[in-house]
Amino acid sequence: MVAGWFAGDGEAFRLLGTRCSACASVFFPREDVHCRNPGCAGGDLVEVPLARRGRVWSYTDSRYRPPSPYVSDAELPWVPCALIAVELAAERMVVLGQAAPGITVADLAVGMEVEVVPGVLHEDAETTWTTWHWRPTGVAR
Ligand SMILES: [Zn+2]
Repeated sequence: MVAGWFAGDGEAFRLLGTRCSACASVFFPREDVHCRNPGCAGGDLVEVPLARRGRVWSYTDSRYRPPSPYVSDAELPWVPCALIAVELAAERMVVLGQAAPGITVADLAVGMEVEVVPGVLHEDAETTWTTWHWRPTGVAR
């Protein structure tokens, strides 16, 4: 897992991107070397938390185990999950992620509001690896 893509717990959990000080372009995954806007001479890249909420831009059903470097236990059967592409209005970008556990494509619709929540990517006896999930905002915790 790459460090520095998100921070915080619970309500404070946020994805972390970077914003160019010259052209205000926002990057996620974070860009820390140089601004990728071809029309920009380049500025300082400053870490910024992304919006917690966005709207479903598209979604699909993940029926097969993703290839490496996706981390999963090959001994266990693959559990299908919903993948959501979420449009963040202020950042003008679309961020992919899995739906929170228990959310299926039947629960989703284009334009629906979702929020980012911490989720478990993988865990063993000693360590839990965190990732982000998208969850429709009207769903009880
Ligand atoms: Zn720039």
